[in-house]
Amino acid sequence: MDKSATRVMVIFTLLGAGAIGGFGIHRLLSAEYGMASFDFVIALSFLSLGYYTHKTGKDGLARFLSAALSTVGPLVFLKAFDSSGVYWVYSSTIIIYYLVPYRWAIGFNSAMLLSLSFVLWGTIENTSELYSFLVTVGLINGFSLMFALNEERSRIKLKELSIRDDLTNVGNRRALSERMLEIINKNKRYGLNACLVCIDIDKFKDINDTLGHGAGDTAIKKLSSFITHMLRESDEVFRIGGDEFVIIAEGADQSAATQLTEKIRYAVEKEEFIPGRPLTISLGVSILKDSDTPESWLSRADAELYKAKSAGRNQVYFDGKVIPASN
Ligand code: GH3
Ligand code: MG
Repeated sequence: MDKSATRVMVIFTLLGAGAIGGFGIHRLLSAEYGMASFDFVIALSFLSLGYYTHKTGKDGLARFLSAALSTVGPLVFLKAFDSSGVYWVYSSTIIIYYLVPYRWAIGFNSAMLLSLSFVLWGTIENTSELYSFLVTVGLINGFSLMFALNEERSRIKLKELSIRDDLTNVGNRRALSERMLEIINKNKRYGLNACLVCIDIDKFKDINDTLGHGAGDTAIKKLSSFITHMLRESDEVFRIGGDEFVIIAEGADQSAATQLTEKIRYAVEKEEFIPGRPLTISLGVSILKDSDTPESWLSRADAELYKAKSAGRNQVYFDGKVIPASN
């Protein structure tokens, strides 16, 4: 639940209720009871949506209903009372783009513009006035859409940056948590096999100490892309620490998991990541259980990795036992 988003939405509904309620009071004092009642109904609707958002902590429904109110409000006012309703169309257009995803905003605004054209057609005397109105509202729609698209692009870019590891460009710890949750939820609904592999480079500190941090970084990058290329489309690699990686293989059962991990261990041992110097990895495997949380699933693989390290490194551990080496 995004607390700041719900807070902003509550503030928005209060502002809406305040602005329109103010008109209601003014009209009440001017004895324009019809318009005043209409204003109070809209203001009360905004207040109710704000209250609902505050109570539930969810802003989705309030956003859509506020957008609907912003679409219908100016139309009803214009049809039932006077032409000052058109001024509200400008602010409503922008507000709707702020409230809902841009595809919905295009829908709401097109509906508003179309209905307005019908309503105004009979009432406006001068067609160039109608034309000016439609062009200015159209321009506001165009610019609001441009801003909405820019914002969407930035949001996607930010999300991408927040889940990528800078050095290797594979997913980071946050991406791993999201993927694990996704698989655990999928397993609860449909049931599936999945395995998680913790990998740690053996004696990596020695490589850094003797060849320098830059050579260490290069080795990490090469290893990451080497492992990625050994995997299937549905498998994914994550870097969760300095020389620590995790693989998630969706659909892999015990036999597939042990074959895959031993194949990787062997291939890494044979590959020359650093000229003239061996590089090996230790691996720990855990198969997803129905009762698993992300933490329990990861910690079982981590415990197996620890056993592989304690038993001498350059080996794969699963279920407390070493997987026989293929060479
Ligand atoms: P072990 O076999 O027990 O894993 O020994 P190790 O030396 O690999 O020990 P450990 O995994 O605990 O240490 C990882 C080292 O990785 C420590 C740090 O010097 C190095 N390291 C961490 N992040 C980076 C990085 O981004 N780049 C480089 N080059 N080295 C890093
Ligand atoms: Mg290490």
